[in-house]
Amino acid sequence: MNEIILQSLGAAQTVTGSKHLLKTPELTILVDCGLFQGVKSLREQNWTALGIEAWEIDLIILTHAHLDHCGYIPLLVRQGFKGEIYMTAPTSELTQLILLDSAKIQQEDAENANKHHYTKHHPAKPLYTVEDAKASFRFFTVRDPNIFVRLSDHIHFQFKTCGHILGACSVELNCFGKKIIFSGDIGRPQSAILNPPDYFTEADYIVMESTYGDRLHGTNDPCQELAAIINDTIARKGNVLIPSFAVGRAQELIYLLNSLKKQGKIPLNLPIIMDSPMAAAATGISLTYAEDYMKIGRAEFQQMNNHITINQDYSNTVGFIKDKSSKIVIAASGMLTGGRVLQYLEHYLEDNRNTILIIGFQAEGTRGRALLNHTHEVKIHGKYYPVKARVQELEGLSAHADQSELMAWIRKFKKAPAQIMLVHGEPCAQEALRVKIQTELSIPVKVMTPNEDVLLFSCDHFVVTAAHDSKN
Ligand SMILES: [Zn+2]
Repeated sequence: MNEIILQSLGAAQTVTGSKHLLKTPELTILVDCGLFQGVKSLREQNWTALGIEAWEIDLIILTHAHLDHCGYIPLLVRQGFKGEIYMTAPTSELTQLILLDSAKIQQEDAENANKHHYTKHHPAKPLYTVEDAKASFRFFTVRDPNIFVRLSDHIHFQFKTCGHILGACSVELNCFGKKIIFSGDIGRPQSAILNPPDYFTEADYIVMESTYGDRLHGTNDPCQELAAIINDTIARKGNVLIPSFAVGRAQELIYLLNSLKKQGKIPLNLPIIMDSPMAAAATGISLTYAEDYMKIGRAEFQQMNNHITINQDYSNTVGFIKDKSSKIVIAASGMLTGGRVLQYLEHYLEDNRNTILIIGFQAEGTRGRALLNHTHEVKIHGKYYPVKARVQELEGLSAHADQSELMAWIRKFKKAPAQIMLVHGEPCAQEALRVKIQTELSIPVKVMTPNEDVLLFSCDHFVVTAAHDSKN
């Protein structure tokens, strides 16, 4: 069994559930351990067996703190995983925040479903609890980017920052003499607050995201568009509701809104409410790591937060909703799958003066995707609401590289890799990117399919050390 095999247990022909297993003679490594999100058929996969026993996985390398990359960790630990989970320091803090929130939402959803009887499961149960989430934290092992970490005799890796969100990294894994790059989620070169992604110049194999493999974000200045949408809505005496990932997008958005106020492009006295305890906490974590991980320093980051109302207390949410004056509300979740944003949506959706502004990727089956697809009604907490508010999309604020930026990322490699494996994309996006890479760069591309074993290479000429001996 001297083979190196890649198997995607999630984020194969879809954008959520990232779990990429690298089976080697020395170690079995899981890169990311995310939850499936979106349509029911995907979410149900969180409940099915992984296809590998948790204890068979020696360690996890986590690229970043988004739920679709880290959200399965508590479950894996409950199932018997006992290895180290490597991540950067900001990723560790953000992941703890996100997992506790995820567990809390699942527990509340299960309780509500049981109370109001909108469940087919009797009783409805959470995927994991707050206690499960906390129990997984002791396996978190923090490592800085740009420093190699030895995992076994023939395997070591380093993190390289990749923009996207605070602490997010690609993974460069040296494995039996070959270099395998896991791209993670590739950020934008021109983010307002994060440094551009680190580029690589050498690889034998690349496991690469393809979220926007078929789309360009456009050349319009997103700040100008954002200002126009806000001013339009205010002129109608409406509110702007921006569903946003609490981590990453929210902080960038605050920075941009603040800049627009400073430049006089939106009214200085326009209230901006970030109604998300998690976004508030994520902003605090961003402040801690601003100097090491962000383009803007701590002082500037601190200053921009002075111009918004950060709300943690749910009792205030009702007050914000009742207050009829125009305002901007930023609330999670970013794809309208849950969270406090739904309370606003219930009240804002039926009023044609309001704008629902979509700024991030919306997975198939989410309320966000339905709104972008011009649905005439949205179901929230078991009730239908007609869509009368304007729904607008601002792609320029995306945290994911578009097709041209993904191609630019690959073009940095001096020598063509043996193969690129595409993950983390929906089939149309993956097919477009596959054809583009093969045609323009003549690199073989494989679109990973769920649970398929893909042989990368053999390492017959190495003296393999038994996995568990090499770790000690
Ligand atoms: Zn992400």
